[in-house]
Amino acid sequence: MKGKNILQILRDSRYTVVLSGSGLMAENGYPLLRDGEESYEIEEKYGYSFEEIFNSGFYSARKELFFRFYKEEVLKALETPPGEGFQALKKLQDHDLINAIITRRIAGLEERAGCSNVVNLKGTAYDNSCPVCGKHYPMEYIRDSKGVPLCEKCLVAIRPNVCLFGEMIDNGLMTRAAAEVEKADVLLVLGASLTSPLCSQMLQYYTGTNLILVTGGTERYSDERADIVINGRCDEFLKCLADGCEQAAGAE
Ligand SMILES: [Zn+2]
Repeated sequence: MKGKNILQILRDSRYTVVLSGSGLMAENGYPLLRDGEESYEIEEKYGYSFEEIFNSGFYSARKELFFRFYKEEVLKALETPPGEGFQALKKLQDHDLINAIITRRIAGLEERAGCSNVVNLKGTAYDNSCPVCGKHYPMEYIRDSKGVPLCEKCLVAIRPNVCLFGEMIDNGLMTRAAAEVEKADVLLVLGASLTSPLCSQMLQYYTGTNLILVTGGTERYSDERADIVINGRCDEFLKCLADGCEQAAGAE
């Protein structure tokens, strides 16, 4: 069983970093909003594509529609809790087999599953603040507001602290993520192509010895750089590893 060999690789690793891509999130039942049927439905419903709406220019000019989309599509999806894949990730962290997790997804699934040392490169929907006074607001405040959510004090629109299209990723977060990847012996890529933005940004910092790619989907992935490629679901792969850990712990 492949999972077992990889468990050994993780045990032998001094520092293991996970790059958590959209595949793991899609397996968890989250819409990706930019591909196939989902993207077509978005255009039908709002008259714009996901990339057009979830954009800094659009946010500045069309807040009503931005927040309608944001609440109905992005925040609504958060009702789906982190599933088995994320729970398994947390277990592996509890067994000290994963040291850091880096993602560009904004659903905060890793942290909601209890994972720690997560770098959310594009922020999460759980962090929102007033651009004038800086007051922070929870996701629920945005979700439950009528129309555009306003700061109670300043009456200006509260900004979700997520990176929109057309915006740069926060420098501090990039630096932190790069430092994590530089430390890694093992880099475990879950549900992301090695040419995806997440991997393109991070692989340049990786000098370790074991790049493991779990494709998590049926798409063809560019995987030349990977030392080990596993064609299968990420959640099943993680669960298999986590079960292996528990069994080993039980046998000791
Ligand atoms: Zn304010």
